[in-house]
Amino acid sequence: MPISDFANSFVCDLVAYEPGKPIEETARELGLDPASIIKVASNENPLGPSPLAKKAMAAAIDQAHIYPDGGGYKLRSAIAGKLGFDISNIVLGNGSNEIIELLCHTFLNRNAELIAAKHAFVVYRLMSTLFGARYVEVDDPDFIHDLDAMADAITENTRLVFVANPNNPTGTQVTHEAIDRFIDRLPPHVIAVFDEAYFEFLDTPPDVLKHVRAGKNVVVLRTCSKIHGLAALRIGYGIAPKPIADLLQKARQPFNTNAMAQAAALAALDDADHIEKTKAVNREGLAFYEAAFKERGMRYVPSFANFILVEVGEGDRVFKDMLKQGVIVRAMSGYKLPSWVRISIGTAHENQRALEVLDAVR
Ligand SMILES: *Cc1c(COP(=O)(O)O)cnc(C)c1O
Repeated sequence: MPISDFANSFVCDLVAYEPGKPIEETARELGLDPASIIKVASNENPLGPSPLAKKAMAAAIDQAHIYPDGGGYKLRSAIAGKLGFDISNIVLGNGSNEIIELLCHTFLNRNAELIAAKHAFVVYRLMSTLFGARYVEVDDPDFIHDLDAMADAITENTRLVFVANPNNPTGTQVTHEAIDRFIDRLPPHVIAVFDEAYFEFLDTPPDVLKHVRAGKNVVVLRTCSKIHGLAALRIGYGIAPKPIADLLQKARQPFNTNAMAQAAALAALDDADHIEKTKAVNREGLAFYEAAFKERGMRYVPSFANFILVEVGEGDRVFKDMLKQGVIVRAMSGYKLPSWVRISIGTAHENQRALEVLDAVR
């Protein structure tokens, strides 16, 4: 018998996450110069890491032989202070993705259900599958989460409902009213998780934290991977009512976030200059693409984040043909959107080049 017969079936059956194609791998496979390749596939910050974070990392190097503060006291205190919470409400993760996993560890089992939108971030499905739970997918007309329908889908087995706001890969957001109404309808055995990975890009962000403050079963996830430009360091955080945060702390590894990442995140949170510059570049880039797609009569989804979903016909082919010309975008067939690609907003130069290559291949 093959060894896989002895493994957990839900692990064997899992279709692994397919990340944006790395620059080095693309260069190796296609014989291209890595320096000539543009990666607009993973919603990374085109301006690079926060400069203050770089300094903080450099300063942290000399302590690399010492285990990190697993409790992340300095970073958690700073986040708590900034958001008006107690340190006990803050949970750090090896990327906010790890906090998704901690939530599943803590609340899912084989009888449990996790609810998410049809075109939601795919990690929710992966995690619920890994924990043997039932993944319940709710239709999202016009690519917008239908929170009323998601509340209707709750059963006695539901434990987690994930709302990515803005959502990836659609870039859409839900209204403040819809959020408040949804949270009012939550029964006591269900936790609503608001994944706010792109929160900092919003001009009028919804206040979901008020519900955490009120002690509702609401968890908010944020990350340093996007606006702060620290995706390689793997650091994110969750804000949760104390009873939930305490459970998540138990579920994590003792040193789940590393010292370099903690130091960088601490500095990046206060780097208002880098945040503002990033927002400005993103605003211009989004306007550039929206105008270009309108001009070409191409269908796109108006985005509130740092990427844009555009219909190109054969998404996989367009992805491959663009790749050959050194522009990495993200094909969307894994998101049930085979005729679309997702393009992350880059610098003006990167956007220009990506559009030229898209025009050349479609
Ligand atoms: C990028 C992203 C994250 C962040 O992941 P990290 O693990 O923090 O890098 C979380 N949720 C969504 C919806 C994202 O797009």
